[in-house]
Formats: sequence, C-alpha cells, structure tokens
Amino acid sequence: MSGLRLPAIVLEFVAQQLIKPVPLQRTGWRDIWQSIKAKGWADIPMMEALFEAFDDRLYKMNLIELAKALELPLEYVFYRPRYKRSEPSGTIHMSAVNVAGLAIYLEHFGFNMLVQPLVNDLLPAIRRLQQLTVAELCIYQYASDRQRTRFLLRSAQQSTPPSHPDEEKRLHTPNGYCVQITTNDSRTQKIEISGPKWKLPKPKVEVNCDICGTSYFSGDPDEEGGHRRYHKQILSVLQPKPERRLLADNAGPSIIRITANSPLWMHQAIYDRARAFKREMGFDFVQWTLTKNLRDRDANADGYLFISPEGTIEGACSFRSEAKENTICWSLDWVWIRPEKRRQGIVESHWPRFLATYGDFWVEHPISDAMMSFLLEHASHQQRIAMEIHASEGIDGR
Ligand SMILES: [Zn+2]
Repeated sequence: MSGLRLPAIVLEFVAQQLIKPVPLQRTGWRDIWQSIKAKGWADIPMMEALFEAFDDRLYKMNLIELAKALELPLEYVFYRPRYKRSEPSGTIHMSAVNVAGLAIYLEHFGFNMLVQPLVNDLLPAIRRLQQLTVAELCIYQYASDRQRTRFLLRSAQQSTPPSHPDEEKRLHTPNGYCVQITTNDSRTQKIEISGPKWKLPKPKVEVNCDICGTSYFSGDPDEEGGHRRYHKQILSVLQPKPERRLLADNAGPSIIRITANSPLWMHQAIYDRARAFKREMGFDFVQWTLTKNLRDRDANADGYLFISPEGTIEGACSFRSEAKENTICWSLDWVWIRPEKRRQGIVESHWPRFLATYGDFWVEHPISDAMMSFLLEHASHQQRIAMEIHASEGIDGR
C-alpha cells in the first residue's frame, strides 16, 4: 500500500467528491489534450479543463496543492519575448508528462479518468529513457499498475486528538474502486482506496533452498525471480542433462580440452563448474575467465570437461602455465566433480594423461581432504617430493 500525505483541504475535497455520483459522460477532453501535447505544457486553467472533462467532480480541485504533495513539478513558463529586451511574462505550467502523471494518480484515487490515450501518446518516448521521473515512472508502469493499486491518503496537517470514535464510510465507485473514508468530528482523517484488481500481497516468508543453498523471500517477485535463475544455473551443473553436441565427438567417457580458442558454450560450461568449485570451497574468485572476446581469454589456462558416455558433463578441471627460469611450469588450479559422481574414478582415469601432458605438475593449495587422499594414492614421485617440501617448509614448493 502506498501512503500519501495530502494538505487537509485537498484530502477533504477528495473525500467529498468521491461520495458523489460518477458523471456519465466525458466530453471535450480530446481537444484539450491535443493542445497540451502539442505545446508540451499546460497552464492551470488547461489542466482544470482537462480533468473536469474527464470527471466533473474534479471541478475546483486544488491542483497546485495536489501536485506539490505528489512531488510533480510546476514551473514558470514564459512566452518567448518579441524583442530581446522586453520583459517576459510567465505563468505556472506543468509539462504534458506531469499532467499525465497527475491524471494517473487521480485514477488511482478512484476518479473517473481516461488515462490510456495519454499514456499511449507519451509511452514510446519514455521507453527509450534510462532514468525516469515520478510521472514518467507512473506512465511506464501504468499497464501493470492500472486498477491494482491501494492508496492510503492522510492529512499532512497535525490534528488534535479526536474526542469521538472514528466513523467509517465504505463505498464502491462504478468503476470498481473500493473507498473507505474515516472521519472524526466531521473531519476526514484518512481515505483508503483500492483498485478493483488489487490483491492483498502474500506474506513474505524466508525460504532456504537446500539444493542451491540460497535464502530468499517468497512472495517477492524480484527475489523469487533471482532465485529461480540461480537455482536453474546450479541445477544445470549438479544434475546436468546429456548434451547432443558432446556426444557427436565423444563416443564413450572422455574429456574435452578447452583452450582460449574453444567455442563460447564450452567456456560457459567450464566457467559454471569453476563457479561451483568456488562456491563449495568458499573462495572469493571464480578461477576461469569467461568472455566472448578471444583476445581477453586466458592464454595460459587449459581446461578440461569430463564427459560421461551419455554426454553429460560430470565435472571439470583447469591447469595453468607459468614461465619459471626458462621452463614452463604447469599447475592444477582446481578440479570439481559433481557430488553424485565423486569417488568413481573419473579424475583417476585421466590422471596418466595429465602427467604425460603437464609433467609433474604442481597441485594448487588449499587441497580438500578428498583430493589429498587421491594424491596420496596417485601423485607421481616428483609431485610427492614437492608436496612434502611444501608441507615441511610452509612455502610454495613449485
Ligand atoms: Zn534453489
């Protein structure tokens, strides 16, 4: 629900007018609007004429006070002087966009406005903007807000504590708005106006997702959408589906080497696994560079995707080269296998190939317990020596 403070005189006027019968006909608004649209501005008499043409209960509404309360700007606008030195005379105006914004608010308050043609005229230009004013936002969101808002209007003035109990009056406008007016000592205290399509928002409940480990608030479309996207990403890594394009080249369990020149989708696949590794280990950085641009890719990284006979990606790893004393040294940056497929010999089956390709490569620390027990069994003689030196000296043993 949106709460608004209005000057007492405006609040009283709104309450008095909303209980009157709704006028049946709207006449003459089109010409007035065309003129406002053409000039880009409306002075106060033009605005009064337009709004009265929509709903004659708005005759004598204090539009200046209402606009101020809604933070819709009024400005002095001048006719260009005929001679540069002559004194220009200006009057208070409102831009066409703000006039439409004000009309939208009055519709949300239950008045019988005809806002759609105004929105249709202004929306195309607003769609191109990156930053929006209050009125532009009203116009931009009109299609989704229409008849779905709920406003609580209160007086901006401090009133003395009432001596009687409040009196409440409820009514439905012919266009379906529900209006509840609370008075005390025959003064309007507040007006609640709900659109015909307004629904009580679902209470927000914090949900912890066991699968992706995210906590979010259900009932919040932004949070739910954010979780849905993230959950889908995680699921595609934890429970991947077979990929036809992987099967074509790979009959049987195998690996695919990924270098800077590999296609983007393969880079995405290895990046997703690098991110899963990062999340699981609680690291700050994803250890794979994902970019469309070939020149920005990491030329010193060699990645591998582990593929099942069915064509699913079971995990990935990445090696990195570094020039040291005229030789190229390789290290295993990270290796990640999806939990269901761990301890089934996937890394083991490719270990001899890795040793053949990268020599007695270094294994980056920190090393998980599972990886350590793997290394105790499968590391080469030189790798063991390097690890022992590292452990005893507490230094990088490369
Ligand atoms: Zn989830």
